[in-house]
Amino acid sequence: MSDTEDTHEHEYEHEFDQSDSSPTGPTPVESAEAFDGLNADLRPGADNCYKCTSCDTSCPVAEVDDEFPGPKFQGPEQWRLKRKEDTDIDESIMSCSNCMRCDDACPSSVPLSQMHNTARGEYVEGMDKFSREYIRNRILANYGTLARIGSRVPRLTNAIMGNRVTKWFNERLLGITSEREFPEFAHQTFRKWWNDRGGSQVTSEQKRIAYFHGDYSNFNTPEVAKALVRVFESFGYEIAVPEQRCSGTPMFANGMLADARRAAKFNVETLSALVEDGYDIICSCTSCSMALRQEYPELFDFEGTGEVAAHTYEAVEYLRLHEDLEGELHDSDSEIDHPALAYHAPCHARNQGLHRQALELFRTLDGVDIEDVGDSCSGISGTYGWKSEKYDYSMEIGEEMFEEMKDAEGTTGMTECPTCAMQMEHGTGYEINHPLEVIEAALT
Ligand code: SF4
Ligand code: SF4
Repeated sequence: MSDTEDTHEHEYEHEFDQSDSSPTGPTPVESAEAFDGLNADLRPGADNCYKCTSCDTSCPVAEVDDEFPGPKFQGPEQWRLKRKEDTDIDESIMSCSNCMRCDDACPSSVPLSQMHNTARGEYVEGMDKFSREYIRNRILANYGTLARIGSRVPRLTNAIMGNRVTKWFNERLLGITSEREFPEFAHQTFRKWWNDRGGSQVTSEQKRIAYFHGDYSNFNTPEVAKALVRVFESFGYEIAVPEQRCSGTPMFANGMLADARRAAKFNVETLSALVEDGYDIICSCTSCSMALRQEYPELFDFEGTGEVAAHTYEAVEYLRLHEDLEGELHDSDSEIDHPALAYHAPCHARNQGLHRQALELFRTLDGVDIEDVGDSCSGISGTYGWKSEKYDYSMEIGEEMFEEMKDAEGTTGMTECPTCAMQMEHGTGYEINHPLEVIEAALT
């Protein structure tokens, strides 16, 4: 084993609870707890719907999947039906990718994604816990648990996961598509790098952030996490990297609310203590910031949930609010490596009003040509595009973005979401950067 491989992440290891990884589901007590504190009765919210169908026309899944009835049915109509008679949740809820575009489209503030997440959780409660679909979805939803094990021997895991036999097994037995390349684990996780360097290199009483890196930046793309650290330190921020679990995004998308609840509880307890100490919470992934800001308060009521939501920001958003990021980039002598960038705004960035920020930032820079590759969904939506039966739909949804990327000047893509990056690379073969990597190259 290489000495660069992660062999002793003590700080992170004790978070791993073996019960998290059982693909056959939570215990009945855990299932009941998943709905504790959950505002499961959303029938009053359904009354705000005036049937304009804006949500349906914004839904990328409804556009390609004729059997998917769309967000209006999944949300207000289903909850109205439940008011008349306590009907079962329709199984089509499992085809919603949780892109949350319908949330953004609704002019009447109907809590669509809250309705979908709640309905999905209720549907999954009734699923056969030994069915192939349930086991596959639970594995995908708990990527972080598997990553924690696989990243201990990254070279071996990468070789096994890239193997044709493994792909065949995943496709035939689990229903995980063999069309995609499994994302490689880094030889050194971000947390190992962070601990080896001795933590924050800057101390400050006034400028303090807690970095919520999520699983993907830790295990697969530590270069994004390192870029965040270097950029924020260059602006004089003291950084804390607290213990953390998955934000819950893939768990919400697969209706695994007991898993999401456990992860959210841990995160809220840890992060709210830091908020009390004056830290703001920064995410490099827009789905993580979405979960902490919107999904946690919509679905859970742990003490400190509201404070965590109010103090969570996406990284570039925070720097633009608190620093003269544009000015620093203008004054920088460094050249940006990839002056022609094809930018895709993730759906979850759109839902936070952040879909224009990278364009606004980089368009002001001399010598940088950034092109918006349209406002379509990338199609992968986290785990949706990894499911064998959804793969073709996923690629059909992404087609518009692929075409726009191919028409763009450069062959380097840019986005804030790791799974959108996966899909961009898969559909075009382009290298994909995170905005923080481009900022790091210019500033540090
Ligand atoms: S979350 Fe996305 S896929 Fe699901 S109903 Fe809304 S728009 Fe459609
Ligand atoms: S966009 Fe909102 S108001 Fe319009 S149909 Fe959908 S839920 Fe109803």
